[in-house]
This record gives sequence, structure tokens and C-alpha cells, in this order.
Amino acid sequence: MKSIIIIGGGPAGTSAAIVLLKQGFDVTLVDKSSFPRDKLCGGLLTGRAKRVYQEVFETDFEQSFETLATGAGVFNGSKLVNEVNQSSEWFLTKRFDFDYFLLKRAQEQGLKTYLNDKVAKLDLKTKTLNLKSGTSLTYDYLIGADGVNSFVAKQLFGSSFDQNKIGFALEVELPKGTHNYAQPSIHFNVVNWGYGWVFPKKHSDTFGIVGLHRLNAKLKDQFQEFHKGLYGTHYEGRIKGHYIPFGDFRKVPGRENVLLAGDAAGLVDALTGEGIAFAMESGAFAAQAIIQSISSGKDALYHYKESYQTLAKELRIANRLAYFLYSSRFNRIFLKILPRSKPLLQMHLDLMNEKMTYSQFQNSLIRLALRKTFRIRKTS
Ligand SMILES: Cc1cc2nc3c(=O)[nH]c(=O)nc-3n(C[C@H](O)[C@H](O)[C@H](O)COP(=O)(O)OP(=O)(O)OC[C@H]3O[C@@H](n4cnc5c(N)ncnc54)[C@H](O)[C@@H]3O)c2cc1C
Repeated sequence: MKSIIIIGGGPAGTSAAIVLLKQGFDVTLVDKSSFPRDKLCGGLLTGRAKRVYQEVFETDFEQSFETLATGAGVFNGSKLVNEVNQSSEWFLTKRFDFDYFLLKRAQEQGLKTYLNDKVAKLDLKTKTLNLKSGTSLTYDYLIGADGVNSFVAKQLFGSSFDQNKIGFALEVELPKGTHNYAQPSIHFNVVNWGYGWVFPKKHSDTFGIVGLHRLNAKLKDQFQEFHKGLYGTHYEGRIKGHYIPFGDFRKVPGRENVLLAGDAAGLVDALTGEGIAFAMESGAFAAQAIIQSISSGKDALYHYKESYQTLAKELRIANRLAYFLYSSRFNRIFLKILPRSKPLLQMHLDLMNEKMTYSQFQNSLIRLALRKTFRIRKTS
């Protein structure tokens, strides 16, 4: 029996585990945290996340989230400029509960775990892992699902991510009802190359800001300005921060039989910040690639590259569109178009709920931008 080890028990790692366990493989997962554990995250699940979750976990989706939202608001700073209602579904979860729920599903299927134990050393030549506890494990296949600061990616490529392209996010939980807008809201013009958000959950409002790290040296100040603009005062408590891949995914997601999935591969949509669905999807793809490799005798990476390309293609489009949304060159045009265009917002929601593909979204956006720019020019 081949030895398959997954590092990381987030959505990427547990999705990979479930796919392998369902096919009868022995799987071991290592995570430096004991579960349940928190992960800084807005916890917004899209229609894409729902679809992938149902395909992989085959469990009732209702159990995985706490609040359902049916619309969204878009703000220019603190000013509401556009909204849609009763037109979509978003699901809000707390990662503390969500990730634990997924891990338990995998454990029920026979997943072996080393929790609260960090991978301290990885020898790619001897295929040996050394954990902080002193345990030594050998693998035939390894999945690095160990998040944005991936230890596995560092061993493979020298660094977990590119400092010039990484995003950074700050986030806090505010008392429920601090925000007087009931739907999830996205706030533009509060940070360079990024946005802010408020996601109303069952017991709190998740309030955060994300931007390209290299363009936001004073992100904490921008966070406080954003908070003040909405609520009149600066935030008094502790503000937590976390890196987030912001469009810089790996072109080659691994080496031979070592594969990277989720944030470890940089798989976050630069336009929307969505990463949970891509983590689950890539985790499942990595697992399928290992299964194919066992029967074909080819490297797992050979098979993974194929499925990974479908995600890379979508994220490449997101990167292109993010440029039009966030670059100072086009941002002003976007902010002018935004209040006048319900279709723009609806299209965005449709993309996240898979009612539209990335390339359909791109084409519609180009048509819309051309129409609006032409009209703006005529009226100004
Ligand atoms: C502030 C913020 C808000 C976000 N909001 C959203 C959102 O609303 N919706 C959305 O879809 N996405 C959101 N994202 C992105 C999303 O959180 C990530 O894309 C997602 O968590 C990736 O899942 P993962 O399984 O790849 O990694 P993670 O969830 O980060 O899991 C990695 C796991 O690996 C473990 N690990 C790390 N290193 C080691 C080691 N050396 N040894 C053992 N274990 C290790 C960690 O303990 C962790 O459990 C947000 C991100 C941030 C930072």
C-alpha cells in the first residue's frame, strides 16, 4: 500500500483526504494546530463552494454554514452605491466550525491524524518528514495543503510566495448589529489594489480589508480609516492579519509526487478574494492525480497539471480583470460605472455562483465597459 501524507487540515487538505479515503487508500494528515482551530477568513461560501463541497464531501451542505444571504451591497468607501436583493445565495460560515466539521468527516472515513504537530523538516530525496514531536514519517505521495506560508512550497521552490505579488488582509469580529446594512457588503476605494468587507454572521459582523501588500505599507491606518468612515470611531481591539495569495498562483504546482493545493499553490481569485472553493477543488484534483498516478505509473504531477489548468485558466482571467478593477489607471472609470450598473453587480454574483463562466464574465464585462465608457464620454 502506498503511503500518502497530507500536510494541512484546512479545506484543501480535508478535501484531498476524503477523495482518497473514499477510494480505499490509507491517508495520514498532519496539522500544526489542534482542532477546532481558527483561520482568519471572511467565511463567505459561494455557489461554487457549495457545488464543490457537495461533490467532494457528499454531506448535507446546510450543516456547513450559519447564515444565508440573498443579496449584496457595494459601497464607495462608506457610501452605498449599488445593491442587488433576492438574486443570489451566499453562505456565511465560521472557519472555526467549518474546518473542524470537514476534518471530522474525514476522520469518520478513517483518516489518521497527527494534530498539534508541526512539520519541521522535509527531505525530498529520502521522502521523509520529521515532525516537531520527533515522529518521522515516509511517503510515496505528499500533498502540501499547508496554506499561504507553505513549508512544502518553500522546500520545493525556495519561498512560499512572491513578496511583490502577495496580498495582506486585516480582520476583526465586531458585535452583531454594528453594521446597519443587513447583506454582505464590499467596499471599494478604502485601500490600494483591494477592498474592504463586512459580512453579517449569526453572532457577529466580520469586518476586514485586503490589499496588495507592496502597495499598502500602512494597511492598519487604512483599516482604521475604513472603520471610522463606517462607524465614526477607530477600532479599539486587537487587529489580526494574514497573508492571502492575490492572483499569484503557481504555474507548476509541485514536483514529481509532491503536489501543492489551495493557498499553498496560491489559488485565490484576485478579483473576489475567494479561496475556499479553489482550495477544496484543488485538494480533490491533487487526490485524483495521485490515484491516477498509482495506476499509470506516471508522476502525480503529470496528471495534476491537467486538472490544475482548468483552475489556472479561470484565475488568469480573474487576474486580468483585477487589473481593470484595482489599478489606479482604470479604478476611476470603474467607480464611475459602478453606481449606474445593476448588471455589473449581478454579473459578479452570477460568476461566484457559477451561473456564468469566467470567460463569459470577461466578455460581458468588456461589452458593458465599452457601452458605459462611451455613454460617460458623451454626457461629460
Ligand atoms: C482575512 C481573509 C479573509 C478571507 N475571506 C475569504 C472568504 O470570505 N471566502 C473565501 O472563499 N476565501 C476567503 N479567504 C481565503 C481563504 O481563507 C483561503 O483561500 C483558504 O483558507 C485556503 O485553504 P487551505 O486549506 O489551502 O489553507 P488553510 O485554510 O490556511 O489551511 C492550512 C493548514 O495547514 C496547517 N499548517 C501550516 N503549516 C504547517 C506545518 N508546517 N505543519 C503542519 N501543518 C501546517 C495550518 O495549521 C492550517 O490548518 C480569506 C483569506 C483571508 C486571509
